Amino acid sequence: MLYNLQISFQSATPSLKLNLYTTLKPGNFSKHIPFRHTFAGIMQFSEVIGHSGLKKQLIQTVKEGRIPHARLFYGPEGNGKLALGLAYSTYLSCANKQAEDSCGSCPSCLKFAKLAHPDLHFIFPVATNATIREKPRSIDFLEEWRQYLLARHAYVSLNDWYEQIGIEKKQGIINANDCNEIVRTLGYTSYEGNYKFMVIWMVEKLYHAAAPKILKILEEPPDKTVFLLISENTDLIIPTILSRTQLLKVPPIDQEAMVSHLQTIEQAGTSDLQKIASLSGGNYIEALKYLEDAADETLTFTHFRNWMLASYLYKVSEIQTINAELAKLPKESLKAFLIYGIRVIRYCLHLNTPGHPEIVLRGKELEFVRNFSKYVTVSNAEALFGLFNEAIFHIERNAYVPLVLMDVSLRAGKLLQSARS
Ligand SMILES: [Zn+2]
Repeated sequence: MLYNLQISFQSATPSLKLNLYTTLKPGNFSKHIPFRHTFAGIMQFSEVIGHSGLKKQLIQTVKEGRIPHARLFYGPEGNGKLALGLAYSTYLSCANKQAEDSCGSCPSCLKFAKLAHPDLHFIFPVATNATIREKPRSIDFLEEWRQYLLARHAYVSLNDWYEQIGIEKKQGIINANDCNEIVRTLGYTSYEGNYKFMVIWMVEKLYHAAAPKILKILEEPPDKTVFLLISENTDLIIPTILSRTQLLKVPPIDQEAMVSHLQTIEQAGTSDLQKIASLSGGNYIEALKYLEDAADETLTFTHFRNWMLASYLYKVSEIQTINAELAKLPKESLKAFLIYGIRVIRYCLHLNTPGHPEIVLRGKELEFVRNFSKYVTVSNAEALFGLFNEAIFHIERNAYVPLVLMDVSLRAGKLLQSARS
């Protein structure tokens, strides 16, 4: 069978409708990845990826009543240290603590789940933006911060946060206003008569000159007050702050825990997930980016394969259906799709050249390129390159897209057939 691929166009085409538009949008390979997960939306230990030893350790300290008034969760980006800190605070406040986790359903747990508990306070780096033009404080960004954390289940990064609030070209800091805010907030008694939490995210961004304002309260906070400090680089923390905290090192997420979590959100083969987990270095944010890229590439490849197959077989109605879907893409995405075609043709040529360079493809995509390379030869490759480049040229100049695509389909089909005759 052609390309050794058994493809049903009837089943392939509807998925094209669903997927092309969403996966080939402009900025596809940018950092704006959709955050996909299957978390239940509750800030519990069970929702934190990996770190089983640390969870046990934290629960044990609570059981023994050893609650340090300032704890510093530190470790590299994407390891879940903030999520762990929030799970710890949820547990500490839970009215119905279980052996291994908070209950998840008492009034306190439900408020923590929404990050709306009145005794949960946040301080984080900010700067002026288009809305807050002077004297920015964390509290001015609180609603954005909550939404941001909930959407990412507390797996957050500094650059991503800056981008969220439109300060990516600036350096966010925790400034003197925020230090005053810390002292003021903790001066009030707890709303619910339980613990009060002051979470300071990225405490290394604390403006050094402002730090003395909080030294006293950090050392001797009011009763039942817990500081949860989060940091990625303890070397940058002011020593007088650092020495007042109890350190909790949070390592990168271990490979096994990462893979088993990724399995809950992605159907990809286990070997792919192993590779992604390994590439991510225990950083969940990175792992998600790899996952998205892999998914995008697989879909682009599938659509390209179906398109070329229909063209080769001269199945005009199939070609029309596929082209109609492609024509709906934004111009930049369509160009990216055609550029992908050029890349595939180049891979085919490499495969047909003795001593070809290493090809960075795997799985079904590699299988397809191997089969497709039987139809791409030195005699038709140049014409195929020309065809795709010409199409890009016309699309850039706003030519009528369905016509351009039909032209590519029919001429590419002929060229591919010529290699087999
Ligand atoms: Zn509870």
